[in-house]
Amino acid sequence: MIQEKLARMAMFIEAARSLIYRAAYYIDDYLKFKIDPRAMGALAGAAKVYGTEVANYVVDEAIQIHGGYGYFEEFDVERYWRDHRVTRIYEGTNEINLLTITDALRRGVWKP
Ligand SMILES: Cc1cc2nc3c(=O)[nH]c(=O)nc-3n(C[C@H](O)[C@H](O)[C@H](O)COP(=O)(O)OP(=O)(O)OC[C@H]3O[C@@H](n4cnc5c(N)ncnc54)[C@H](O)[C@@H]3O)c2cc1C
Repeated sequence: MIQEKLARMAMFIEAARSLIYRAAYYIDDYLKFKIDPRAMGALAGAAKVYGTEVANYVVDEAIQIHGGYGYFEEFDVERYWRDHRVTRIYEGTNEINLLTITDALRRGVWKP
């Protein structure tokens, strides 16, 4: 069971990192007006939402693996839980970022 958890955690972290790098890759095009600002916003929003949801999943699983110790302040994973939680709220809540993505899809300016 622990092996499967670790494999999924690693897999999702790599997927999130890839999406973040992809969004970063397009920033040059955005600055040269080669990409619609709404498409850039959607891609950046997707990276933000996915990255923070992966952080939520991974930290939660890390606590589960540690069992009761994961809940104690003495262990780093407890701190990671509190620190990561705000990332779905600030810099644009995930709900609003998802609306940004839908807006770009609806306008046809972003075709994943
Ligand atoms: C630790 C921390 C640091 C911060 N640092 C900064 C900073 O440095 N600079 C800065 O400017 N701000 C900062 N903020 C503020 C942060 O950007 C806001 O908390 C965030 O934008 C959410 O706004 P709100 O708290 O008013 O929630 P609200 O806008 O009241 O939203 C409450 C909930 O409703 C949802 N919601 C709202 N509208 C919709 C909608 N139309 N459709 C669907 N769901 C919706 C939201 O997603 C959220 O889940 C910080 C916040 C925290 C907690």
